[in-house]
Amino acid sequence: MVLTISDIIKQLETLFPKHLAYDKDPIGLHIGNVNRPLTKVLVTLDVTQAVVEEAIELGANLIVAHHPFIYHPLASINTNTPKGKIVELCIKNDICVYSMHTNFDIAKNGMNDCLAHALGLIHTKPLIPTKREEYSKLIIYVPATHLDVVREVMGEVGVGQIGAYSHCTFTTSGTGAFKPLPDSQPFIGQVGEIEYVDEMKIEGVVKTANLHQVIEKIRVVHPYEEMAYDVYQLNVTMPNEQYGLGRIGQLEQPMEAAEYIKHVKQSLNLSHARFVGNLNKKIKTVAVIGGSGSSYIGPVKAKKADLFITGDVGFHDAQDALEMGLNVLDVGHHAECIMKQHVTQLLNDLMGEVAIASTLSTEPFQFV
Ligand SMILES: [Zn+2]
Repeated sequence: MVLTISDIIKQLETLFPKHLAYDKDPIGLHIGNVNRPLTKVLVTLDVTQAVVEEAIELGANLIVAHHPFIYHPLASINTNTPKGKIVELCIKNDICVYSMHTNFDIAKNGMNDCLAHALGLIHTKPLIPTKREEYSKLIIYVPATHLDVVREVMGEVGVGQIGAYSHCTFTTSGTGAFKPLPDSQPFIGQVGEIEYVDEMKIEGVVKTANLHQVIEKIRVVHPYEEMAYDVYQLNVTMPNEQYGLGRIGQLEQPMEAAEYIKHVKQSLNLSHARFVGNLNKKIKTVAVIGGSGSSYIGPVKAKKADLFITGDVGFHDAQDALEMGLNVLDVGHHAECIMKQHVTQLLNDLMGEVAIASTLSTEPFQFV
């Protein structure tokens, strides 16, 4: 079977659902046609001209990046500008550019879980709660003769998944009534006559994001010309389904900040890092947000972390942290490049040898 670019994107969106992203985060396809057969995937933190040239050299026609390539809408594509040149190179070489950003930061096994793992954290939890998964109650009305087949398909397509249980539904019986109109082709009953049918009402919860496709799959086995169903929005949180930005967890063995920082630098392959606070502090609870997390210094302090690891910490943020007594380690935004190997490995495990991690650093700074 020939894999298409779209097959890879579907897999990524199953792992890192788009609906978890922050509003207005421009994730998804930025350039290209996803219906083309896939050659190779190149995984990168950022899309630069050098990265696109690397893709061309490797014969990769899908670049998967963490940072959105087109963050602000482009008013024009001037191929004399760095951005325009990249667009031109991608289009001339049939290369797709796709990004997964805050959805990847927030999702399980995404950026922040990957960082937390590298930092040796255990018992991790989301740090800053974000939107949770939304659920709906789906109610299907079916003639008694078709109860089993419809109920089974509902379970198979994900209705009634609650914690460690699947196929959770509730069924009641009653009488359905309808009058087929002249253009109808009723499964039961006659045109122009009101029909009363022994019907079953099957109800179960379903992820609102999946609702449309779930309904279409149930419709295939439902006998009625017009499948009767209702949808209610629910206000529930399923077990283990709190989503959030960043992670907070514990070190297996508490250690002094100065010593732990050596481990962090080694794990993230850093030549340097910036620290605010007390280097003698015993570190047990660690919070991490990949990328720019300095706007969360206040909320992280409230979580009682002994150390907050993030990037892009500004001068005044650092002063605030110091005043609050929060230890902060700025590992730089580029520490997020840890995602290259992680995503490459995930794709290769799931889809065969399809992906390569970019070998290029997209760190713009030199430490002089
Ligand atoms: Zn970032």
